[in-house]
Amino acid sequence: MMEKENCVICGKETPYPKDMNIEQRDNYIEGVGQLCIDCYIDLYNKKYRDNFKT
Ligand SMILES: [Zn+2]
Repeated sequence: MMEKENCVICGKETPYPKDMNIEQRDNYIEGVGQLCIDCYIDLYNKKYRDNFKT
């Protein structure tokens, strides 16, 4: 059985095996780690909002 990466934020299992090249994964943030799609979208929505804060 292949071990899957867990989301670094919510701990939910992602579809990406631990031995998968990070360049081939989606939702991976360098220096942070693997995120699930929900947390990734959440993070980017926040980032987007922050950009428009003055
Ligand atoms: Zn997550």
